[in-house]
Amino acid sequence: MVNDLHKTNGRVLLCLTCDVEDSSVESLGLIKETSNRHKAPITWFVEPRLCREPAALDLLREYCRQGDEVGLHVHWKDSLDVGLRNVSTEQIRTELEESMHLLKPYHEPASFRGGGLCQSTAALQAIAERGFRFDSSVASALDEPEGWHQGHQRIPPLSAYYPSPRGYDVVSHDGDERLDILEIPVTRGMPAPTLWCNMLEPDITPLSIMKLVFQQYHIRRHFQPLVIMVMILHSWSPERRGTMIRNLDRFLEYARSRKVDFETVANAGNQWKAVWEHQPGIREALLRQGFSSGLRTQVPAAFIKLAVFAYSWRQDPKYYPKRIISVCRNRGKVGRSP
Ligand SMILES: [Zn+2]
Repeated sequence: MVNDLHKTNGRVLLCLTCDVEDSSVESLGLIKETSNRHKAPITWFVEPRLCREPAALDLLREYCRQGDEVGLHVHWKDSLDVGLRNVSTEQIRTELEESMHLLKPYHEPASFRGGGLCQSTAALQAIAERGFRFDSSVASALDEPEGWHQGHQRIPPLSAYYPSPRGYDVVSHDGDERLDILEIPVTRGMPAPTLWCNMLEPDITPLSIMKLVFQQYHIRRHFQPLVIMVMILHSWSPERRGTMIRNLDRFLEYARSRKVDFETVANAGNQWKAVWEHQPGIREALLRQGFSSGLRTQVPAAFIKLAVFAYSWRQDPKYYPKRIISVCRNRGKVGRSP
């Protein structure tokens, strides 16, 4: 077992994902061109109404031929205002059927992302029954009730997990009943439960902070067989955020230099499943929490927070973490919800 663990230890997969919410062919092209320079495939989470836009659809099909993936992105009715818990299961199923009706003639998606990172047990069950095998709609320990649409306080900082039928945010362990869908959370920026300093957009978060986040995940590979990082872009980001493409380019270059494998969500999920099936020892290693519990993990977390503080303060007092959070919030309000 020790040998097997050693063999599978230390791989970091980075999934670049883009929520496609408008049909700006130029923006998609800019993002694709940048990712191509680093040979990074993209998972495009597409809003179903875009299936009525031939130009965008043709482009995405071409990207799929080049190794990208197309997943489904649904902003459930009212969920961004009233919360997904208050949207009825019937409504969710109807919307899912309508979405699949639009997308299925062109593509059979395997991966899903809820609008505004909203997820619920009923919605997850519905998409699992509809044949989706991967979901990337949550972020670990997200707890910002006023600044975000939905908190995910119970989700541990795992690269991926099988959710229990008892809750989308309950990890199912060996022998437990589980939903037949793998949850692959979006990568959070900071190892502190109340902060949502994220990797959502490569110029919301300064590059220096993104590198520190990356380091934090990279260290996990010494404790875990497989680490998956998920980063979100938006189809409208290049237009609204001038430096986004340059920052993305620099971040991907940095990630590549740190020996990361770029993968689509489905490919990363399949690799995780392959490791998971391998043997119980590996399953334990996959469920070991990176930086959330125990002295061993709290010490590096505290160290990273201190390093972020010291580094940011030295660079520019305005990058004091609290300030970053409020900048994220305000920019988030100006832009569209994810
Ligand atoms: Zn969205």
